[in-house]
Amino acid sequence: MALTQTTQLVDGFDRGISYLRLSVTDRCDFRCQYCMAETMQFLPRSEVLTIEELLRTARLFTELGVRKIRVTGGEPLIRRGIDELFDGLGAFPNLETLALTTNGSHLAESAQRLRESGVNSINISLDSLEPERFKAITRIGELETVLRGIDQAIDCGFERIRLNAVVLDGLNRDEVIPLTQYALDKNIHIAFIEEMPLGQVNIGGKALAYVSSDTLQDELSEHFSLIPMTARDTAGPSRDYLIAGSQTQVGFISPHSQNFCAQCNRLRISAEGRLLMCLGNEESIDLRTLLRSGRSDDEIKTTIIDSLVIKPERHVFDRPDEPQIVRFMNATGG
Ligand code: SAM
Ligand code: SF4
Repeated sequence: MALTQTTQLVDGFDRGISYLRLSVTDRCDFRCQYCMAETMQFLPRSEVLTIEELLRTARLFTELGVRKIRVTGGEPLIRRGIDELFDGLGAFPNLETLALTTNGSHLAESAQRLRESGVNSINISLDSLEPERFKAITRIGELETVLRGIDQAIDCGFERIRLNAVVLDGLNRDEVIPLTQYALDKNIHIAFIEEMPLGQVNIGGKALAYVSSDTLQDELSEHFSLIPMTARDTAGPSRDYLIAGSQTQVGFISPHSQNFCAQCNRLRISAEGRLLMCLGNEESIDLRTLLRSGRSDDEIKTTIIDSLVIKPERHVFDRPDEPQIVRFMNATGG
């Protein structure tokens, strides 16, 4: 679905903002190795935006020109009040795409309700089809439960379902073909994400290296006929291909590369209400304080518009071996 390009949100590099990623919690029922430490200190509840604050924020952004919202986390489906949030978001007249990124652990029981709220697109993280390996990666997750969630989501008829797999050498690189075949068999999409530098990932005493999208693409091209896609519904970091003879798209998400920054159309809100200008930079403004300070909608909208001058031209993870991102992904929503 093409996003309507009229927006009052334009940054200093003439990029219009139509896409907001909203992190609704930093908590999660998994502890994926590349995302979180085993023991985590989560935000006190008072520091996390309430459902009312999240809805107000989302409404202001849609009034300013945002046409797509992706709810993420942490794990959104464990957030208290999530049904109310989706019902509210689904009722916004200007929103064209209401999307969710989830680990799938609660999807089997939630999918129908999400569909009824107006969610039309779901990304489900799935790094392995081997139960023991899945558990090692997530430290907690049960593969079977997630696979049931995926089947339930397919049965509910969402417009778009995509699997997200982070690929690490020495961990799940050998599953790139089976994961793609699984997506093909289920008639859904899949994207392979380069691991972002949060620090060294070490599983079972083995240091694991990130695998570049180019390498994965070469490997996949030996097994599947990949047709480059030109029409893209959002400017984003995914390079998409269609598997010939199917409706399944394979995406390669390369955060290390800067080639998508020129078309960046997105902003992020972290669980504690920081409006983040770029995943790879620290520039942000404190929306939570604004929301709690009794300012009017118009005052907050003006501050948001004015803040866009600090959105950086590009991100800086250009040295894959050096961790540059100090935030854990669960707080920013990836
Ligand atoms: N809990 C949900 C999930 O796992 O889908 C939503 C939040 S999670 C932070 C969003 C996405 O970020 C997931 O697809 C996850 O694989 C990805 N992610 C987390 N840490 C990452 C990292 N260090 N590098 C690349 N992707 C990462
Ligand atoms: Fe939780 Fe998602 Fe991070 Fe895994 S990637 S720990 S499921 S937030």
